[in-house]
Amino acid sequence: MSLRGLGVVLLGFVAAGGGAGCNSHAGPPALTGLPVRVTCTTTIVADVAQRVGGDRVQVETLMGAGVDPHKYISGSGDRKKLDQAHLVFFNGLHLEGKMADLFEKNHDRWRARAVAGSIPHEKLRTAEVDGGEHDPHVWFDVPLWKWSVGVVRDALSDLDPAGAEVYKANAAAYLAELDDLDREVRAKLGAIPKEKRILVTSHDAFGYFGRAYGFEVIGLEGVSTASELGTPRRNELATLIGTRRIPAVFTETSVPPVGLQGVLDDVRAKYQHEVKLIGGENALYSDALGGPGTPGATYPGMVRHNVGVIAAALAP
Ligand SMILES: [Zn+2]
Repeated sequence: MSLRGLGVVLLGFVAAGGGAGCNSHAGPPALTGLPVRVTCTTTIVADVAQRVGGDRVQVETLMGAGVDPHKYISGSGDRKKLDQAHLVFFNGLHLEGKMADLFEKNHDRWRARAVAGSIPHEKLRTAEVDGGEHDPHVWFDVPLWKWSVGVVRDALSDLDPAGAEVYKANAAAYLAELDDLDREVRAKLGAIPKEKRILVTSHDAFGYFGRAYGFEVIGLEGVSTASELGTPRRNELATLIGTRRIPAVFTETSVPPVGLQGVLDDVRAKYQHEVKLIGGENALYSDALGGPGTPGATYPGMVRHNVGVIAAALAP
């Protein structure tokens, strides 16, 4: 993360806290009754909190549908949601690029837990992203994302022991659903021939997906969206797509498709190869769920949508 980015975040928070007479030494609020107030960074993390917490929790989300977490800069409204929360869940692994330091520095102020923090390091993909060492997009490997459920269940149970049995049952039901989801994904993707399993997207959110389900994954912008696309990279991608006659590339809901369109224009001009640009309502959900009422409004819905779109575009 850049120093400039950090400065913006901290200044914003000082301004918000000062007017409210905020005591910087105060800890998180005590739980005196239900609901347990839970604040999450991304919609994907919030989905786990809601499923495991059920009726006992009230979930707030900082980054809404379609918001890119790598570039997210916290606003003053976020401070209130964090300060009022009994529990804070974030992804971790530097996904929330500009907020990562904030959680580290305020670990006494908030009960903040990184849901990806329990995943053993040897199961993580190595990638340099916004100051971290690992690829943060763990949710696209469904069995790997199951680790997040345990973190949420244990944190809620510690804080609210009266609800422990409920959290345990909710977590078990959700884990079983995720096992079914993983089987469904494998069955659906099994229809795509091995040589066609190439996923070209706006940014490298799908590395774990590729590893789990046997795809070669190529991202235009690298693992974070916070870096600019250079001409050498653009040329490299055009050559790759053109020479391998890749049939389709995919846009993402949380990343504008500007860069991809330019690459496809190059492919058409240099290789006379027409590539399908899969976007609009078929854009892949990458770092955020869809809004209420969309197919991607829940984590299982997001995975099903993505897999359905990928299978339709790449299967014979
Ligand atoms: Zn991302």
